[in-house]
Amino acid sequence: DARIARIAAAIRVIPNFPKPGIMFQDITTLLLDTRAFRDTIDLFVERYKDRDISVVAGIEARGFIFGPPVALAIGAKFVPLRKPNKLPGEVISEEYSLEYGKDKMEMHVGAVQAGERALVIDDLIATGGTLCAAISLLERVGVHVVECACVIELPELKGRERLEDKPLFVLVDAA
Ligand code: 5GP
Repeated sequence: DARIARIAAAIRVIPNFPKPGIMFQDITTLLLDTRAFRDTIDLFVERYKDRDISVVAGIEARGFIFGPPVALAIGAKFVPLRKPNKLPGEVISEEYSLEYGKDKMEMHVGAVQAGERALVIDDLIATGGTLCAAISLLERVGVHVVECACVIELPELKGRERLEDKPLFVLVDAA
């Protein structure tokens, strides 16, 4: 698919950000390329439009960029999964571990109902810890996570294995 090549080319890699040794995959340049950005959304929409998905859950912050256009196009609602203490209403939260320390992900109570079918969207999967936390959060309230979708995968970090049997769809592999 020529669209994939264009998307891959539009992602900028910034060495040593946010710390030495990290090759940061910067999707802001993808957003500047109107064709590549549209293709990104179209590829997700083509895959998910007939999968009976009622919720797109987007992970803060870059899941908030790719999630809403997909949700609108497939006729699903959008639910933000946020960093702690950002959501104003009652929340349920899921703790997860990072390379150093812990973090928490929160979702509004009542945003989703048991039995709904969700797609989880983020920009990138590295170790898979973030997506696992999102899946747990949704499954705890009885939602079926149909699939996770990311623009970029860092295959070396084996995040896909951490997701176990949960399907993961990605557009681009990064070295
Ligand atoms: P994981 O939990 O899979 O180790 O890390 C994935 C999370 O970290 C995602 O929410 C993603 O936005 C962020 N992340 C980690 N590395 C990068 C990177 O190189 N580029 C971007 N855009 N996000 C990253």
